[in-house]
Amino acid sequence: MELDSLYQQVILDHYKNPQHKKLVNEYSAQVHHVNPSCGDEITLNLKLVGEKVESISWDGVGCSISQASTSIMTELVLGKDIKSAFAILAEFTELMQSKGLKSGDEDLLEDAVALAGVSKFPARIKCALLGWMAFKDAVLQSQDKLGE
Ligand code: ZN
Repeated sequence: MELDSLYQQVILDHYKNPQHKKLVNEYSAQVHHVNPSCGDEITLNLKLVGEKVESISWDGVGCSISQASTSIMTELVLGKDIKSAFAILAEFTELMQSKGLKSGDEDLLEDAVALAGVSKFPARIKCALLGWMAFKDAVLQSQDKLGE
């Protein structure tokens, strides 16, 4: 894979020093997502208070793309309201589906633009999206519980 070297560094930094990678036991939903094609796995704990992401933590194993992307995602959504977090998720998903044609909105995606190059490699897109899909699932499960 050829990624811009600056972007490679961002991904490597998150892979080596993942953010929020220590499961916090207080959560409103816990999800476990796997990407069998690559062997990536993550468990994600999410705590919503009202509409706000109060706490997000995770643990996982897998390739540098999946682990770095999850780390970047947690930094982006922590403290945000669901609407803003889902806007970031939508922008990132669109970037991953762009087949290398988009570079991503840096104001919205911050470090996640480093993963733009992944969109040229269909086999790796699931790696990059794993944590983000887990987050979305955890939000929906939390909201289901709150609605009961
Ligand atoms: Zn992977």
